[in-house]
Amino acid sequence: MSDYQIDQLPWLADPHQRFVDQYYRGKSSHAHLFNIDKALGGDKLAKVAAQAVLCQHLTPVGACGQCKSCLLLTAGNHPDLYVVEPDGNQIKVDQIRQLCKALTQTAQQGGARVAIIINAERLNLAAANALLKTLEEPGDDVVLILQTNTSAQLLATITSRCQTLKFVKPTKLAIHDWLSEQKLLPAANSEGKMHDVTWCLSVVGGPLALANSLTSQHYQQLLTFRQDWAQSLKTGHLSNSLLKVSDQQIVDALNVLYLYLRQYVLKSNKIKSNNANHQTLNPVFQAKIIELAGRVMNMCHKLETMPSVNTQALCQQYVLAFRQLTY
Ligand SMILES: [Zn+2]
Repeated sequence: MSDYQIDQLPWLADPHQRFVDQYYRGKSSHAHLFNIDKALGGDKLAKVAAQAVLCQHLTPVGACGQCKSCLLLTAGNHPDLYVVEPDGNQIKVDQIRQLCKALTQTAQQGGARVAIIINAERLNLAAANALLKTLEEPGDDVVLILQTNTSAQLLATITSRCQTLKFVKPTKLAIHDWLSEQKLLPAANSEGKMHDVTWCLSVVGGPLALANSLTSQHYQQLLTFRQDWAQSLKTGHLSNSLLKVSDQQIVDALNVLYLYLRQYVLKSNKIKSNNANHQTLNPVFQAKIIELAGRVMNMCHKLETMPSVNTQALCQQYVLAFRQLTY
């Protein structure tokens, strides 16, 4: 993935400044929760925030970038910074025990000691419980920063001991503008109309992942899936790319179908409000399409842990289910 610096990600500017303000004024908490998805750069913000805590000459706008602490951090070997990330799917209890033990030792650079926990929603139950005591009494000059993609999956006992950093997600329009500044948007068509690439944000996960998709073949693949689903649902026969979806692509293909079905219902509602005479989908039928979309989404979750599947049969099954509803 392209390595964006935090100052290239405008939606992180406010939360970063808010975090720095607290430390600059000396009024800060010992435990912070960054409920900011990695796809939005939440992990990058955690690292920059850690640098602000460790910096020996903090400025009103962030770390100085020149002190010994900053230089050690830039080189990636600050002895008082600990980063914990999931080992496989989980953050395990041994990782947390090791961290808590390390945090009881004296800081080597004489300042604070900072622990970053990336994807804290993946703390397993034993690990979360092992962390509680340190969160409650972290010791002098110990700061914990928990980054999470989904704070709803964290134990309430964890979140209640942390100060949540205020964050506002960028709108689709703001993401569109950002991608445009990065010069990643496809050229306008012959009528001068821009193609909206943000339709697939939920499939890829967020703007950083979308930027990455746009610089590879991935975005084009998603677009092809969308066109081929539209075609297949219309004719009842799987077309083109959907006949040869690989095991690696099936989750993408189904996520695109999910979006398509949701938009199918939304679009019908929009036409209804614009044109009173238009034949719209009746509510029962709408509910059935939404239910089908739900089944597709459940299958996506299941597929993440399934080794291999007959992708063509699966796609065909959804096309038939849709046709039975519509014709
Ligand atoms: Zn510094």
